[in-house]
Amino acid sequence: MANEVSSPVYQFDTQKVQAGYEPKDHHYAVSPPIYATAAYDFRDVDNAANLFGLREIGFLYTRLSNPTVAVLEERVKTLDGASAAIALASGMAAISYTLLNLAEDGGRILTSPYLYGGSADSFKKIYPKFGIHFDRAKSIGDPEALAAEIKPDTKAIYIESISNPSAVLLDVEKIAQVAHEHGIPLVVDNTVATPYLYNPIAHGADIVIYSATKGLNGHGNLIAGLILENGKFNYTSDKFPQFSEKYYTLRDVEGNHRSFPEVFPNAPFTNRIRFNYLNYLGAALSPFDAYLAIIGLETLSERLAKQVHNAEKLADYLSSHKAVEWVRYPALKSSPYHVLYQRDFKKGAGGILSFGFKGTQKQRETFLNAIRLFHYHVNIGDVRSLIVNSPQTTHGELELHEKVFADIPENLIRISAGLEDSADLIADLEQAFQKALAGN
Ligand SMILES: *Cc1c(COP(=O)(O)O)cnc(C)c1O
Repeated sequence: MANEVSSPVYQFDTQKVQAGYEPKDHHYAVSPPIYATAAYDFRDVDNAANLFGLREIGFLYTRLSNPTVAVLEERVKTLDGASAAIALASGMAAISYTLLNLAEDGGRILTSPYLYGGSADSFKKIYPKFGIHFDRAKSIGDPEALAAEIKPDTKAIYIESISNPSAVLLDVEKIAQVAHEHGIPLVVDNTVATPYLYNPIAHGADIVIYSATKGLNGHGNLIAGLILENGKFNYTSDKFPQFSEKYYTLRDVEGNHRSFPEVFPNAPFTNRIRFNYLNYLGAALSPFDAYLAIIGLETLSERLAKQVHNAEKLADYLSSHKAVEWVRYPALKSSPYHVLYQRDFKKGAGGILSFGFKGTQKQRETFLNAIRLFHYHVNIGDVRSLIVNSPQTTHGELELHEKVFADIPENLIRISAGLEDSADLIADLEQAFQKALAGN
């Protein structure tokens, strides 16, 4: 399990292919084996008792941990400079376990208005029934004013480092400072950026969430999620009484019950998720999918660099097109986020960009139907280029006023740049524009 504080010895690109895996511990297999096993034999009765008492950390049952899954956890933990990581069956599982772990007794979460559609919709539909309520910040872009939106029962601030679909960037450091001044952690969904483009922990985040379904894996062939922690946030204040609860299962050798921060001082958050939420709600990642994610990670930098390259080309092409009203991509000088981009995103603004289609709804539909090369679907971060009319699909669950607040105009078209040749991608968009403009 991923508990130790990492000591980064190698550079990022070395870690992404090596970290968390020692061939000599796995019969010298070069590629991490898929441990297709539900359970693990106990060595003897003492070993069984120690594993159950968490006095010995080892593998017991794959719902809790698995050696293949552990390689993925260790690797992403290392890439992010986290103190611990836990992999789960989906990005949504990572989000839900994080929110429950923070606010299981009820409370409020202050969020950025610029969120993944599934997050925004679930915050509205599901969590309030469990006593967890969300405030969409009015001043997320103005951290000085943000403090006024924190209420006595606010348990965390929740943001995305690059938002989907509009690629909004935020001053994460300042937001982290506001959170910490109020004794609450900052949660950053870093799915779009991936650790290649952005390190939230280095900018003050306490908890990092990934949907590994997207750019982290990058091949569009699995569903997975991760939660990471920085090992520094103090959860033992009155705001989080659940972290002071002492458990029989966490007892020491004398039988004294202990809390998660007592047993895991560097990783109370992810261990509480592992032993409470993953254990009892059960969204375990399959070893096979963990293996696919590990293989995907091996090319993270190369993929993201090419996606950034292609996204920049597409943004330039779209910016001067007569059928385009606006383009949102932080690398463009016209972007309101260009200054933050230059400060915080030295390797690029990612593969997601969006544009406003200038024309009728019918022309917009003709354009989408005429696209040949881009795949038309809801995913992002794939090796293939993708296109989608977000307001009608991925963010289609939001009501009109919510889309206005989240700044998602009805004519927005989102692109997730893949690894193809940018000339082919531009030619494909061009032929679709021509067809659309020929009609009305
Ligand atoms: C896709 C996505 C999620 C949800 O992840 P799944 O793996 O699909 O459950 C969460 N956040 C962001 C930003 C995403 O793009």
